[in-house]
Amino acid sequence: MKVVTAQNELNKLIDRSNRNGKSVGYVPTMGFLHEGHLSLVSQAKANNDIVVMSIFVNPAQFGPGEDYEAYPRDLERDVALAEKAGVDFVFAPSVEEMYPTDGGIRILPGQQADVLCGASRLGHFDGVLKVLLKLFNIVDPDRSYFGMKDAQQLAIIETFVRDYFLRTEIVRVPTVRESDGLAKSSRNVNLSETERLEAPFLYQALQMGQKRIGVSSPDEIEKAIAEFISKQTSGIVDYAKVLSYPSLSEVSEDDSEIILACAVKFSKTRLIDNIIMSTKDDTSCSE
Ligand code: AMP
Repeated sequence: MKVVTAQNELNKLIDRSNRNGKSVGYVPTMGFLHEGHLSLVSQAKANNDIVVMSIFVNPAQFGPGEDYEAYPRDLERDVALAEKAGVDFVFAPSVEEMYPTDGGIRILPGQQADVLCGASRLGHFDGVLKVLLKLFNIVDPDRSYFGMKDAQQLAIIETFVRDYFLRTEIVRVPTVRESDGLAKSSRNVNLSETERLEAPFLYQALQMGQKRIGVSSPDEIEKAIAEFISKQTSGIVDYAKVLSYPSLSEVSEDDSEIILACAVKFSKTRLIDNIIMSTKDDTSCSE
């Protein structure tokens, strides 16, 4: 495995003209790797000849007062995990490498970013799209792997790639969970001991909401999810929403997929979780 920090070096190493027809699978991450990230890698390995992972905590997607500084980092450990998982190239650039110039051009997501995390983290998805376009241009991947844990991000990226004819196929990967149901996240290390015990209630609340789809209204389900979390945890509910997926618009009769999503603020970190369910066969597709 090779660790590369310069974008032009990586671009040269895996340039399409040097690939000899080999396919590249790409896994973008912010590091502090866990089994969720590694599940993206194993899917990428199964379907591509070369696997590239980027590790970059992107300042552009953190707002003022968010956890950019507190975001956990451990590149040495990540490199060892990536190597063991069979990654071929780790791209770990500095902020200066990724943002050497700024001509002020912005990439703005559409209405999919007006709800959920986009409503509470203004500008967050602008920063996600900005870094991704750069990363896609550097790596030029045949396939790119994204977790359904970040379902809104995934939906916006699918739209971006489709609308702008970006030459990569987006692959959805189901959420990997701890044995108690908590979605694996790099941010889980910033939970206190008590909060860690409370955190699985997010998923339990969503599962409770899922059972009520078709029985209660989206409004009632959202209220029930928020109340359940407020009762069972010390966290503050940022949102609990039931929407059509991937449009993230209001639920309607002809939706084929529905998302139940929540975000909860704990003392040092904010967690998100979701269940995406098919309305056709009534099975969850998020795990
Ligand atoms: P992050 O490093 O948190 O930005 O995540 C990098 C990628 O890993 C994103 O596509 C995430 O959706 C995905 N990911 C994060 N946590 C999980 C998880 N628990 N299960 C599956 N994918 C995940």
